[in-house]
Amino acid sequence: MTLQERIAEPSAMLTRVDAVASSQLMPIVREIDDGHYPEDIMRAFGAAGAYGSHVAAEMDMGQTIQAIARGGEECISTAFCMWCQSALAWYIASSENTSLKTTLLPKVADGTALGGTGLSNPMKTFFGIEKMRLKGTRTENGYSVRGSLPWVSNVGEDGYFGIVFSVEDEGRVKHVMAVARGDQAGVKTVLDHDFMSMAGTATRSVQFRDAVIEDDFILADPIDGYLQKIRPGFVLMQTGMALGMIRSSIKLMEQVRGQLGHVNKYLEKQPEDFQALLDDLEDEIMDLAQTPYDTSIAYFRRVITARLRGGEASTEAAHFAMLHCGARGFVSKGAAQRRLRESYFIAVVTPATKQLRKMLAELPAA
Ligand SMILES: Cc1cc2nc3c(=O)[nH]c(=O)nc-3n(C[C@H](O)[C@H](O)[C@H](O)COP(=O)(O)OP(=O)(O)OC[C@H]3O[C@@H](n4cnc5c(N)ncnc54)[C@H](O)[C@@H]3O)c2cc1C
Repeated sequence: MTLQERIAEPSAMLTRVDAVASSQLMPIVREIDDGHYPEDIMRAFGAAGAYGSHVAAEMDMGQTIQAIARGGEECISTAFCMWCQSALAWYIASSENTSLKTTLLPKVADGTALGGTGLSNPMKTFFGIEKMRLKGTRTENGYSVRGSLPWVSNVGEDGYFGIVFSVEDEGRVKHVMAVARGDQAGVKTVLDHDFMSMAGTATRSVQFRDAVIEDDFILADPIDGYLQKIRPGFVLMQTGMALGMIRSSIKLMEQVRGQLGHVNKYLEKQPEDFQALLDDLEDEIMDLAQTPYDTSIAYFRRVITARLRGGEASTEAAHFAMLHCGARGFVSKGAAQRRLRESYFIAVVTPATKQLRKMLAELPAA
């Protein structure tokens, strides 16, 4: 189902996003798959308003999710970069840092400043999976930070990204969240990854060698309270990638029905099965998107469940798209194999399927 079929009256923003996706993104998805970072398209989505709805005065996270979904219908690399950008805007908008809110936030929301988030390590740390990779020491006007992050996407050499570091303070450990910049003194970024998909995400490894994070760039010190405020939106906006992937997998299955339907009908799962799942999941996501600042455990469990369902349905839908398409999906430039490779990213990016299951097992029952 296209965006127009699914959403009877798409907003002006989604109509503009749809135009960018059809005219600029769709023609170059193979180049992106081969490693091209679509900076001009990221800026065009920004100009269209794709990263702004969830941080606007009349906040509407559902619109941001739908924009990511539209990008994801064509390309998960781009949809993930859209999520990175929207997550950075979310961090700033949710903070008490009025200086960053007036200077950086408008530029992130309209795509004139590009950036992302290095939060997979802290998100795993806070759920008992890893140890903090970044450590800070108090200085006169901020913190001096050391350590490294193996993956930060959607950042050029001068990109902005959210970080969390731990600080030992009189025998106690606290965590601080801030915005760092790729080109600031003490920060070194390298494009050195070789992934099975997602090559066009400008994913860098980042080293901090006594990089000074000034007080002006602090989002929350300590992170307590603020973390609970940002984490449902962080996770929920990722479901846009899943919606896009499931929609495009359905489209691939339908495209071959005319020629191969006489035999494809014996496959266990049909496009109608995924459409029913998609409708149900999308309703739940759009409902959740109305209250992203709900900090209750009951709400967070629903968000995690929707994210988990989205990740699992993405790989399943892409798997069945591959089976429906057969040999035409198996060739090196085939859409189905590209979508299948991309779909696994949704299940692996933090919070990965295994982390989501751990969280559901350990969070108190609602
Ligand atoms: C394309 C891509 C883009 C990403 N972008 C971002 C981003 O923008 N921001 C962000 O914070 N995170 C990013 N990540 C990280 C991502 O969110 C996950 O944290 C990561 O994929 C690992 O998740 P996991 O929970 O499955 O951990 P696991 O893979 O189960 O475990 C992670 C640990 O395994 C070890 N490890 C990792 N790679 C290897 C290897 N090749 N060989 C041996 N050991 C290894 C490391 O110790 C690492 O801490 C990105 C990852 C990918 C693949």
